[in-house]
Amino acid sequence: MIYLDDLLQATGGRLQHGANATQFSGFAFDSRQLEPGQLFLAVKTATGDGHDYIGAALAKGAAGIVCEHCDTLPANNQRVTTIVVPDVQEALSDYAAHILRKYRPRVVGVTGSSGKTTAKEAIAAVLRSRYNVFKNYGSYNGRYGLPIALGKLEPTHQIAVLEMASDSFGEIARLASITQPEVGVVTTINRTHLSVLGTLNNIASEKGRLIEALPFNGAAILNADDPRVAGMVPRTQARIITFGLKRGADVRAADIKLTTEGMSFSLHYDGKKFKGFTPLLGRHQIYLALAAVAAGLVFDVPLETALDALGRLPRVPGRLNLLAGKNGALILDDTFNASPEATIAALDTLAELPGANKVAILGDMPDLGDIEKEAHRQIGHYAATRVQRLVTKGEAAQQIAAAALQHDSGLGQHAVHVTFTSDDAAAAVEDLLSPDTTILVKGGAGVRLEQVVERLLANPQQAKKQLVRQDAGWQKVRSIQPARPTWVEIDLEAIANNVRRLVDIVSPAKIMAILKADAYGHGMIKVARTALNNGVSWVGVATLGEAISLRKQGVDAPILVLSYMPAWQAHEAINYNVSATIFTHELARAFSQAAADLNKKAFVHVKVDTGMGRLGLLPHEVLPFLESLPQEWLKIEGLYTHFATADEADLSYAREQLRRFQALLAQLAQAGLRPPLVHAANTAAMLNLPESRFDMVRSGVGIYGLPPSDETPLPPGFRSALTFKSTVGQVKTLPPDSPIGYGATYRTKGVETIAIIPVGYADGFRRGPRTWGEVLVKGKRAPLVGRVSMDQSAINVTHIPNVRQGDEVVLIGQQGDEIITAEEVAANLGTINYEVVSELLARIPRIS
Ligand SMILES: *Cc1c(COP(=O)(O)O)cnc(C)c1O
Repeated sequence: MIYLDDLLQATGGRLQHGANATQFSGFAFDSRQLEPGQLFLAVKTATGDGHDYIGAALAKGAAGIVCEHCDTLPANNQRVTTIVVPDVQEALSDYAAHILRKYRPRVVGVTGSSGKTTAKEAIAAVLRSRYNVFKNYGSYNGRYGLPIALGKLEPTHQIAVLEMASDSFGEIARLASITQPEVGVVTTINRTHLSVLGTLNNIASEKGRLIEALPFNGAAILNADDPRVAGMVPRTQARIITFGLKRGADVRAADIKLTTEGMSFSLHYDGKKFKGFTPLLGRHQIYLALAAVAAGLVFDVPLETALDALGRLPRVPGRLNLLAGKNGALILDDTFNASPEATIAALDTLAELPGANKVAILGDMPDLGDIEKEAHRQIGHYAATRVQRLVTKGEAAQQIAAAALQHDSGLGQHAVHVTFTSDDAAAAVEDLLSPDTTILVKGGAGVRLEQVVERLLANPQQAKKQLVRQDAGWQKVRSIQPARPTWVEIDLEAIANNVRRLVDIVSPAKIMAILKADAYGHGMIKVARTALNNGVSWVGVATLGEAISLRKQGVDAPILVLSYMPAWQAHEAINYNVSATIFTHELARAFSQAAADLNKKAFVHVKVDTGMGRLGLLPHEVLPFLESLPQEWLKIEGLYTHFATADEADLSYAREQLRRFQALLAQLAQAGLRPPLVHAANTAAMLNLPESRFDMVRSGVGIYGLPPSDETPLPPGFRSALTFKSTVGQVKTLPPDSPIGYGATYRTKGVETIAIIPVGYADGFRRGPRTWGEVLVKGKRAPLVGRVSMDQSAINVTHIPNVRQGDEVVLIGQQGDEIITAEEVAANLGTINYEVVSELLARIPRIS
């Protein structure tokens, strides 16, 4: 319970309105997760301002508000207890320090790079045998979360076990000064948060601040086997207790045996030996159990009692938690987060568990700074020796797959799957789900692998209870930050869905996914993988460079280059197993010669111009061309044409093209020269002229969920995959007649509020002859004003209240009830949706 008096005393806050409620059941900072009776904290963070959500919090039953100003408090809410403080975050820390000093629990601080939560749980379990113990819940463990958790501290708590995390310098020292720990536990130092803290030694220096803060009559509980933790000894005046597996540790474990039940071990302390057991899995987790025993010793909990508590310790969701999977498979859920060290430990644990088939689903490991690529590759090499199948999810994790494929353990292409969606990751192990299979799932928080685990559970209803990140806040959160405040979001689930719809429509014909121009601006590699994981069998690109880039990233599906590939690119095309489009004798000879040089066949598709007036032989030239082709070095895989008007309301010309193509095919069949793969249809023809599907369709826009034209909408069930966003960079109120932008072409008509957004024509946000027209802010349309610059633009937000720096701006996509489609933008610019999306340039980061 939080009492108003304590709050006012601790923070010096001002009571703004009649204090209706004088006590609160807890703190809440996310209005979506607020429970009635809680105190809502209007916190400003880098990505949002809680003051905007005060109304939502009151609607959910907040009993009070802590805020920095009352501007956004609904006028009719005079009766809600409202405390105004200069800085909400500061006030929260002050409250935490105040309440700890008032209730006086003895504080145990737990820190380290990994294992903190499990250590906290184990320590709390041991101490509970004798004391009334408080612990901070979930991952409320930072400079901001920990004080929130302390809203639940009660005067009856004798000991507070507090997990303390740090992802920046000074955070642990700050937490220690708030909480005044008597006992400090450091689990391990490894490579998490490297991008901010820089080096392992820096991480050790930061975490060790906990030990420095201990009083001389306190106790430091340190991992003796981790040199950087053991090295903290000189940094404290407190008594030292060490734990570990090596001789010399004060509390030591040996003879560890691992089964699906947990680990049995012998415990050595003070010359005596005890038998221990814990349901925890993984040798590295033994350390956490030992830390708990050591903490027990500090508080006079007998060893036998401590061991008894450890024997009944529940496993923690997302930390090597063994779950029942579909068809009797075992799922080793380690999805909370990942560092290279913890991933290796998890792979070792997997290797020790039963099951003839060992499978790992591994995701991006976050925050590795410069060593990102190398660290992922190391994991790939390691995994290759420990699993029969490897599935990766996410961008950085592609390196895990690439390294595993290069390892000489013999994991072949069929055993390594690269995915980007949870559905695809789960589907990649479906055929192995059986009682003989154990599947490790591990990755950083950002890749959200708990969603993969959920799909593999025998009983998905258990997800809420058994998995990490199940609360309302996480359902919405965007866990990957774009590299720039202007970005494109690609919904790969929409891509997967669209591909499956296409399969339904055209099967048994095959699908070639058209990925030219960076997959129409959607990001080629992720779209390629997702399309291939969902039923596409070919990919088509415009240039050899695009094809090679796919090959270099490990895509081994057949690739056709649709545009003119000159003779001098023939060697490279053949080397990379890329199929070429040919339509002249010169090209045929060049590819044949290059193939002979390389002693390797060239794969080609012959292009026919049935009336598009672009590349291709005329229909009557095809038969003589095929008859004259040098057969020895050329493999004629396919024959194709392209329609000029398949997306129009009047299909008569498209039908004429189709008729010419069919006539040619009949002629070729008679001569026994019909190539195995005949294809003609783009997305529009596939929809409007089902007879044009032949052996394969070439779909571009359909895969992206965009309609080919106004006359040819997509059937129900397709979803557009691309959202284009920016952020308000500055808001200014200008007097009448103020010029905006180059050329001063716009002048404010009255007092106007103008917002500047960091996006310009060098992003494909066109300057002229016509502009985008409008964008969305706070779910409302805001017109562009003045000229678009290379990297920035101005919008008029006079009619939209409370627009602030940092607000999200939608350029294509939905916001609230408003939507701007690529088709609407195309109409404003005087072009087609294809051009709008494919012109979004590479400097815009794509996230998914
Ligand atoms: C781009 C392209 C396609 C794909 O067309 P969509 O209308 O996007 O489906 C198909 N075939 C060829 C030859 C192309 O150049």
